[in-house]
Amino acid sequence: MDNIKNIVDSLSTEQKINLCSGQDFWHTLAVGDVPSVLMTDGPHGLRKEANEAKGVNIMGKSELATCFPPAVTLASSWDKEVAHDVADAIASEAHLQNIGTVLGPGTNIKRSPLCGRNFEYFSEDPYLAGEMATNYILGMQENHIGCSLKHFCANNQEFNRMSIDTIVDERTLREIYLPAFEKAVKVAQPYQVMCSYNKLNGTYLSDNYKMLTKILREEWGFKGIVVSDWGAVNDRAEGIRAGLDLEMPGTNGINNKFIKKGLEDGTLTMDDLDRVVTRLVEYALKCENDKYENYSYDYKTSHKVAIRAAESGAVLLKNDNILPLKKEEKIALIGGLAEESRYQGSGSSKICPQNLVSVLDAFKNEGANFEYAKGYKIKDVADADLINEACNIAKTADKVVLVLGLTPDYEAEGYDRDHLNLPVNQTTLLSALYKVNQNIVVVLQMGSVISTKWMTETKAVLNTYLGGEAVGEATYNLLYGITNPSGKLAETFPLTLDNYLVSKYFPMGPINVQYRESIFVGYRYYDSAKVEVAFPFGYGLSYTTFDYSNLNVVQNGNTAKVTFDITNTGSVKGKEVAQVYVKQIDSVIFKADKELKGFIKVELDPGETKTVTIELDERAFSYYNVKKDGWAIEKGTYQILVGASSRDIKFDKTIELEGDGTENIDYRELAPSYYSIDKVDEISIEEFSKIYGNTVPSGAMLKKGEYHINTTLGEVSEDSWFGHFLYKVILFGGKIVGKNTENETMIIRSIPNMPFRSFVQFTGGLLSHHSVDGLMMMINGHFFKGLGRLFNGMRKKYR
Ligand code: BGC
Repeated sequence: MDNIKNIVDSLSTEQKINLCSGQDFWHTLAVGDVPSVLMTDGPHGLRKEANEAKGVNIMGKSELATCFPPAVTLASSWDKEVAHDVADAIASEAHLQNIGTVLGPGTNIKRSPLCGRNFEYFSEDPYLAGEMATNYILGMQENHIGCSLKHFCANNQEFNRMSIDTIVDERTLREIYLPAFEKAVKVAQPYQVMCSYNKLNGTYLSDNYKMLTKILREEWGFKGIVVSDWGAVNDRAEGIRAGLDLEMPGTNGINNKFIKKGLEDGTLTMDDLDRVVTRLVEYALKCENDKYENYSYDYKTSHKVAIRAAESGAVLLKNDNILPLKKEEKIALIGGLAEESRYQGSGSSKICPQNLVSVLDAFKNEGANFEYAKGYKIKDVADADLINEACNIAKTADKVVLVLGLTPDYEAEGYDRDHLNLPVNQTTLLSALYKVNQNIVVVLQMGSVISTKWMTETKAVLNTYLGGEAVGEATYNLLYGITNPSGKLAETFPLTLDNYLVSKYFPMGPINVQYRESIFVGYRYYDSAKVEVAFPFGYGLSYTTFDYSNLNVVQNGNTAKVTFDITNTGSVKGKEVAQVYVKQIDSVIFKADKELKGFIKVELDPGETKTVTIELDERAFSYYNVKKDGWAIEKGTYQILVGASSRDIKFDKTIELEGDGTENIDYRELAPSYYSIDKVDEISIEEFSKIYGNTVPSGAMLKKGEYHINTTLGEVSEDSWFGHFLYKVILFGGKIVGKNTENETMIIRSIPNMPFRSFVQFTGGLLSHHSVDGLMMMINGHFFKGLGRLFNGMRKKYR
């Protein structure tokens, strides 16, 4: 610590200020004795830009790295060891590539299945998300490579992600959107936490003192640095006060000048700056010291970890006695995605895989008894010839393995999905095949929930989500029963989104999104509202069967120890994920029908029984009491439910808790809808404001004359001719840059979501604040005055 203090003391004010933002897109700045640190994306592998040394970001061109399955798949494994071992393998590769910190994991809650980035997140449930994130971080950091836990917080949609104001009540924030971060910070201490782009209840996360200092550091004891998401800085001086240590990417100092100004005009003190700089120095030295030679990296081992992860996260959704396949059966393997397998999502997490094995490759490599036809194009266009060809090989086959899924255009970082449907050319093909052969096994490749209406035309469905570079090997092993499927859904598959309360309030905007549904997210809603779903949270089949018996609950005050037996009653080895939910029967405070509070994955030989134990601590019975500003336990009757999914409860036990005597807020008269969530299909703003504890900001759209630097291109294109023109020009540019590249849709669709401040940040200050002010004046109707300012801004003295 003395050493760190000495280094901080040795720095000039200017050096200290410079340290507060990156050197370029990927490095922190080296100043004096403070070394530079290289950060790269992941999180399911490494995306070290091929031109990293030049500090640029050209998505798509990065060094080869092992591509593991993304978070959606890891979470469906419900296997903490898998999350740990994937991160462990990534860390050894990170040493090889000289990387200090991997930008992940992302642990935001999947509030709506439509969020474009759901593939990068773990679950709709905070407990499961927290366990996976924690174990990933432990696996990485045990190897002395840092993690950047992201995106903190309440960043649950891509629409206007850089400017939207998330309006969420404190209890919901604490119970749904924060616990995964809280657990990971408290248990695994990531080197970094990355603050998200959005506002939370009126304040940008990048300058949110409550979140970055009060909660993160003072309540949870976070010891690392807070880094901005790339381009998330709103007010740099305010950020220093709030606890935002590092601005990324570097902006050639264009935001640092606000720190200087703050010091000059006294709105910032040297203590404020030193606090940040001390943490930055500590971080850089920690990463430098961690550059040890004592690691082993072996690609083959990493690829094996990738296979195991992909297998563990695949979920068998349906099986009418058709799987596993037998070696002697003649298979018609069909589907463009079998050949061009989709194995990861698009955007900043996209990795260039070392060795991608498609499903078709794996069938070939294994010498399977099969014929292949493409059946459909990756672009959703009808092609009768491909369908005919596929039907021809299907006719004579014993079984059809049809690979379907969401193609890259359907989901990516930067925009949300519009619906849950599979591409039409794929479902058309399925119907055609069904007419000639009804023994159809569908393999799904996708990063998030889809509609399942087409499933009546199948006998089995294996959801492999996004399998990483070993997608083919894992799929082959699962289909042929070499590995028994053991994944379970970490998210609910609804029948439709029409009866999901969140859908009414997603994505809202353009100014704010109101989380009126409160705690009723995912199965917390579906199970409380008794809405029929396609596949419930926690669901997944196996090639064997399991029996649950001998439940025993030993209560100790406001905690409990749950013990039960699981037996493999089938004829093959398998793994079962047993889940423990807690339900309060007679609460004064409104609660969800049940909440996941523990789980375990056990492997059992045929006939084998294992006794498992899950401890429920006080937190498992707590809710967040806004009156107390802390966790509280209500006195009352609680049920402990043990099940194979949220809708397959095997047995339960009731216990009485004394509670902790905290006075509850009774909303039964103030906001009755929350107590009868099965009977309402909307929550009025009045009722929401009662639990929000304040007037809910209306979120009215801005008009010409009111636009500012955080307004998005999409917003200004509405009623300002110049805004519209600018939007079209940038869109045109985007189309040219993206044309025929894999990022085309992503670029085009994310443009409307860009706020004007991004122009300053992503041009490294080439376009100064002064110039962007000029643009805003032009958009707001002061064309010539603005034009003058725009040009002035290009002169050095205004930068
Ligand atoms: C993403 C982050 C990512 C960063 C750097 C941002 O746009 O939100 O998840 O780590 O870019 O690529």
